[in-house]
Amino acid sequence: MMPLRRFQIHQPKTVKEAAEMLSHYGEKGRLYAGGTELLLAMKHDLLRYEHLVDVKTVPGLDEIEIGNASLHIGTTVTHRAIEQSVPVREKFPVLAEMANHVANVRVRSTGTLGGNLCFAEPHSDPATLLLALQAHVHVQGRSGERTLGMEELIVGAYETTLATDELLIGIDIPRIAKSQRAAYLKFQTHERPTLGLALVLDVDGNGRSITKARAAVGSVSPKPCRSDQADALLAGPRDKVEKQLDDAAKVLADAADPVDDLEGSAEYKRHLIGVYLRRAFVKALA
Ligand SMILES: Cc1cc2nc3c(=O)[nH]c(=O)nc-3n(C[C@H](O)[C@H](O)[C@H](O)COP(=O)(O)OP(=O)(O)OC[C@H]3O[C@@H](n4cnc5c(N)ncnc54)[C@H](O)[C@@H]3O)c2cc1C
Repeated sequence: MMPLRRFQIHQPKTVKEAAEMLSHYGEKGRLYAGGTELLLAMKHDLLRYEHLVDVKTVPGLDEIEIGNASLHIGTTVTHRAIEQSVPVREKFPVLAEMANHVANVRVRSTGTLGGNLCFAEPHSDPATLLLALQAHVHVQGRSGERTLGMEELIVGAYETTLATDELLIGIDIPRIAKSQRAAYLKFQTHERPTLGLALVLDVDGNGRSITKARAAVGSVSPKPCRSDQADALLAGPRDKVEKQLDDAAKVLADAADPVDDLEGSAEYKRHLIGVYLRRAFVKALA
């Protein structure tokens, strides 16, 4: 590892000030949160910035709030804080459980949810689950604020739709209804997930029928992915859906279009999607 090149850290006190700094420094500057990705890439000389804008000095972005309709997570909330939050554990157990399995405790204690999403590293657990949970992110730049769905934020490997002066300020996740069951499973042999699979099912009162389904698969290709066609195959009477799981997995795998990489071949990942969709289905309905 190379010694870090010299850089300056700036400490904005408001989101507007941070946006102005990002605009001012342009390609020489970058937003910095926990630094678990950014500083590592800079130490390896893969990224070079002369100015880092520390988003953690902006008050109020590290809060978790549960409202009537949704859960709000500020961008600088760490994975560890999500994992340990009592309201999250009570109302969004699937999210707390997912956070509990991100990286190791050192990375979880420093790495933020916003940093994870904005780095758009393809092997992200939260991005996959948040896609299935229909989360929205709030983004603010010099000219104002906008709200994006997960599909609109992450568009490729290490690629988001954020403009140079924009920062992610928070994430909203709709409340999980009493009729909904959610599961997130991941398969991992190295440092980061080989596959993450999230499934949210709306079930009728006795659980014999699935009225609506939303599945997402991540880490197998550049960005998390879902498919309306797969979701349609996952809805209907439970025994019928059970017979359609292989077809749904095939459709989801076609949509994700897995890639060959050090985690495994595309064919192997397609197989994993089938195995993990079935497991997630059983887990969600357990
Ligand atoms: C050893 C290791 C294992 C890991 N394992 C997993 C794993 O199993 N699952 C998983 O999902 N992840 C894993 N990760 C990734 C980890 O989740 C991220 O490193 C972490 O969440 C990034 O957050 P950060 O605050 O450190 O981001 P930083 O490193 O500070 O920033 C990352 C990038 O995001 C940008 N950024 C940060 N905040 C914002 C913002 N608010 N608005 C706009 N841009 C922003 C920065 O400019 C930078 O480009 C692992 C990482 C490591 C190092």
